[in-house]
Amino acid sequence: MPRYEFRCRTCDDTFLVSRPMAESSAPADCPAGHSDTVKLLSAVAVGGTGSAPAPSGGGGGCCGGGGCC
Ligand SMILES: [Zn+2]
Repeated sequence: MPRYEFRCRTCDDTFLVSRPMAESSAPADCPAGHSDTVKLLSAVAVGGTGSAPAPSGGGGGCCGGGGCC
Protein backbone atom coordinates (compact mmCIF):
# COMPACT_ATOMS: atom_id res chain seq x y z
CA MET A 1 0.00 0.00 0.00
CA PRO A 2 1.49 3.37 -0.91
CA ARG A 3 2.44 5.77 1.78
CA TYR A 4 1.81 9.46 1.59
CA GLU A 5 3.62 12.12 3.52
CA PHE A 6 1.59 14.87 5.11
CA ARG A 7 2.65 17.98 6.91
CA CYS A 8 0.68 19.61 9.67
CA ARG A 9 0.49 23.35 9.37
CA THR A 10 -0.45 23.70 13.01
CA CYS A 11 2.52 21.99 14.66
CA ASP A 12 4.74 21.81 11.55
CA ASP A 13 5.17 18.07 11.95
CA THR A 14 5.39 15.62 9.10
CA PHE A 15 3.92 12.16 9.17
CA LEU A 16 3.27 9.24 6.86
CA VAL A 17 -0.12 7.76 6.12
CA SER A 18 -0.61 4.39 4.47
CA ARG A 19 -3.78 4.29 2.47
CA PRO A 20 -5.15 2.98 -0.78
CA MET A 21 -4.30 5.06 -3.80
CA ALA A 22 -7.99 5.77 -4.28
CA GLU A 23 -7.95 7.67 -1.02
CA SER A 24 -4.67 9.45 -1.61
CA SER A 25 -6.27 12.86 -1.74
CA ALA A 26 -8.43 12.40 1.34
CA PRO A 27 -7.56 14.63 4.26
CA ALA A 28 -5.56 13.22 7.15
CA ASP A 29 -5.28 14.42 10.70
CA CYS A 30 -1.83 14.78 12.16
CA PRO A 31 -0.80 12.53 15.08
CA ALA A 32 -1.55 15.40 17.43
CA GLY A 33 -5.08 15.63 16.11
CA HIS A 34 -4.82 18.72 13.95
CA SER A 35 -6.77 18.72 10.73
CA ASP A 36 -4.92 21.54 8.99
CA THR A 37 -2.62 19.30 6.99
CA VAL A 38 -1.24 19.33 3.50
CA LYS A 39 -0.17 16.32 1.45
CA LEU A 40 3.40 16.37 0.25
CA LEU A 41 4.10 15.05 -3.21
CA SER A 42 7.58 13.79 -2.50
CA ALA A 43 7.05 10.60 -0.55
CA VAL A 44 5.07 8.13 -2.54
CA ALA A 45 6.99 5.04 -1.58
CA VAL A 46 5.44 1.92 -2.97
CA GLY A 47 8.71 0.09 -2.69
CA GLY A 48 10.31 -2.66 -4.68
CA THR A 49 10.29 -1.76 -8.32
CA GLY A 50 13.23 0.63 -8.42
CA SER A 51 11.72 2.67 -11.21
CA ALA A 52 9.90 5.82 -10.32
CA PRO A 53 6.17 5.25 -10.31
CA ALA A 54 4.26 7.75 -12.36
CA PRO A 55 1.85 9.71 -10.23
CA SER A 56 -1.21 9.09 -12.30
CA GLY A 57 -4.60 10.53 -11.68
CA GLY A 58 -4.41 11.44 -8.06
CA GLY A 59 -5.04 15.04 -7.31
CA GLY A 60 -3.23 16.61 -10.22
CA GLY A 61 -0.67 19.20 -9.30
CA CYS A 62 2.15 17.37 -11.00
CA CYS A 63 1.60 18.58 -14.52
CA GLY A 64 0.38 21.98 -13.48
CA GLY A 65 3.51 23.71 -14.64
CA GLY A 66 6.08 22.21 -12.31
CA GLY A 67 8.17 20.91 -15.15
CA CYS A 68 7.99 17.31 -14.04
CA CYS A 69 6.49 15.95 -17.24
ZN1 LIG B 1 -0.39 18.91 14.19
